[in-house]
Amino acid sequence: MMIYDYCIVGAGVAGATLAAALRRLQPSKTIALIEMDGGIASPEAEQEVVIGRQFGLPITRYYGLGGTSSLWGGACVLPNAQDFRSNAWPIDLTELLPFYDIALQSLGLLSKSDLDAANERVDVKNDIAALFVNGVAAEFQFELIQQLLPAPNLFHKYDIISLGVNVIRNAYCTKLNFLSPRRVESITVEIDGEKIAIKAKKFILCCGALSTPYLLHRSGSIDKSLLCNKNIGCYLSDHPMGFIGQVRFKRKVAAPYFHRVKGSNDIRYKLGINHSRYGFNHKYYLIPSFKVGSSTVTEDVKRALLTVRERSLSFSEIMTLVRNPSVVLQILSYLFANNPKVSLYDIWMIGDQRADCGSLVKRDLGLDGVEKKIINWELSKENIDEMYEAKEEFINLLRYAGFSVTAHIDRSHFKEYLTSAAHHSGTCRMGLTSQDGVVDKNLQVFDIDNLYISDASVIPTGGNANPSLTIIALNYRLAEFLAANE
Ligand SMILES: Cc1cc2nc3c(=O)[nH]c(=O)nc-3n(C[C@H](O)[C@H](O)[C@H](O)COP(=O)(O)OP(=O)(O)OC[C@H]3O[C@@H](n4cnc5c(N)ncnc54)[C@H](O)[C@@H]3O)c2cc1C
Repeated sequence: MMIYDYCIVGAGVAGATLAAALRRLQPSKTIALIEMDGGIASPEAEQEVVIGRQFGLPITRYYGLGGTSSLWGGACVLPNAQDFRSNAWPIDLTELLPFYDIALQSLGLLSKSDLDAANERVDVKNDIAALFVNGVAAEFQFELIQQLLPAPNLFHKYDIISLGVNVIRNAYCTKLNFLSPRRVESITVEIDGEKIAIKAKKFILCCGALSTPYLLHRSGSIDKSLLCNKNIGCYLSDHPMGFIGQVRFKRKVAAPYFHRVKGSNDIRYKLGINHSRYGFNHKYYLIPSFKVGSSTVTEDVKRALLTVRERSLSFSEIMTLVRNPSVVLQILSYLFANNPKVSLYDIWMIGDQRADCGSLVKRDLGLDGVEKKIINWELSKENIDEMYEAKEEFINLLRYAGFSVTAHIDRSHFKEYLTSAAHHSGTCRMGLTSQDGVVDKNLQVFDIDNLYISDASVIPTGGNANPSLTIIALNYRLAEFLAANE
């Protein structure tokens, strides 16, 4: 039987990046990339039960070549130093910076230094940043965020098939098989109802933050002494996100949300406002709006539209759109980045979550005796209270700066408006030791010599930065590490 040098499970953002990077660094090595290809539905064998807080977006993952990069918005955000909380990450931002640059370059985006220069060049006199500055907003940091337009599916962007990676499709990995407690010998894969074993020297799991811990739970359930790290599946984090209010500026301003930097054709730049307090790091976006006020119904429809490429709208969603042409206008202005000149802006908060072990993915047998993936995404009361206070600070700042706040969400409704940004992470977090993590700083699973994890699940704290750029950077780093440590 063939023994691959590397077997990567999952062809999403993480797996696709790693396969392409390994191929370039080690052209003579054999690589198998296993992808289950289920579209928007997970397979029967992976039945899901979502308990507790709902994510809010109609679809939060995609199973197929490119993974969730088939759905994403293409926003590529560089985290900042406080996102790498020293008590959670075993590395700091400086160690990852060279790999962020490789990641930005691979996507055709500006490097960090060019982005810093672009931030300097932004004509603050004409955008909302200038309206704030006036000495009142020193603790708020304005920055341009790069966004690919249209967002590409990373698998196809990297052209992995022509790179010569052996892509095995419609292949659902059901478990890892161990040669000894420290060594994985093979994985079991179901293809067309048949089970086959695929052997490799090194295995890298890239199934995403909800599927990777489940695969580990299933593999460990056969022999309880294996994969017994108590952190597997815990600390399920996301970015709690939602509409928090509206502001009316004294004059109409061309939407700075879609600020374009000179010379760019296919990349747009949105303006983010960072706000860090007590170690949390939240972000706000100002989105051109065409109607005063909002409701959970219209916010639901806006979220539904984010995944409209993969699903048709329901009758009630269509009716909501018919009744709210202002929402259609807002979405069109978002899609086409046409810089409308308006004075009214929606404020969206994207929050920093500090998850605990009650927020998790686990495996359980249902009453029917069928095993299920149980997903429980929880936000602690402290986290919600802290976000609410941060939001109040921001709204007060707007008022202090003399702007009229036309709507804002009060404490009793705040929770209802907060949904997930579909940035699942944290379930196999990096740590210094097996006491606080599942993988070490080189993404190797603690106490297993040839098993690595390198998808969104390894991110211990998400700050407010959209995760994909970090996932891509981590995979370029892992490819270099594997090449240097054959
Ligand atoms: C609507 C939407 C918009 C988003 N916008 C942004 C954005 O603008 N910027 C950003 O940074 N992030 C964004 N995200 C989040 C981002 O897309 C994800 O964080 C990222 O794609 C996760 O990458 P991953 O490789 O960890 O997992 P995935 O991309 O989900 O890939 C996992 C892959 O593994 C496969 N797989 C799973 N289990 C198995 C198995 N047992 N056997 C074989 N294969 C398996 C799956 O089929 C899938 O292809 C968005 C997400 C959504 C839903």
